[in-house]
Amino acid sequence: MSRRCSRPGCAEPATATLAYDYSAGVVWLDDLTDEHHPHDYDLCGHHATSLSVPIGWSLRDQRRGTQGHLRVVAG
Ligand SMILES: [Zn+2]
Repeated sequence: MSRRCSRPGCAEPATATLAYDYSAGVVWLDDLTDEHHPHDYDLCGHHATSLSVPIGWSLRDQRRGTQGHLRVVAG
């Protein structure tokens, strides 16, 4: 099982999951979740890192460091 970045025109494999809370104005970036939730977005490393949030929102990057953390998802 592998998922792709949800950004239009991007075919990179997803490495992070984006979730948000409209009422709190918070966006979270986490390591890719095992299950896809309908309100979350999967992003590749590039789009996760270059993500910007609207003015007044806060972004919380909770991804683990990539050093020594290589995750292989077998079919
Ligand atoms: Zn992407």
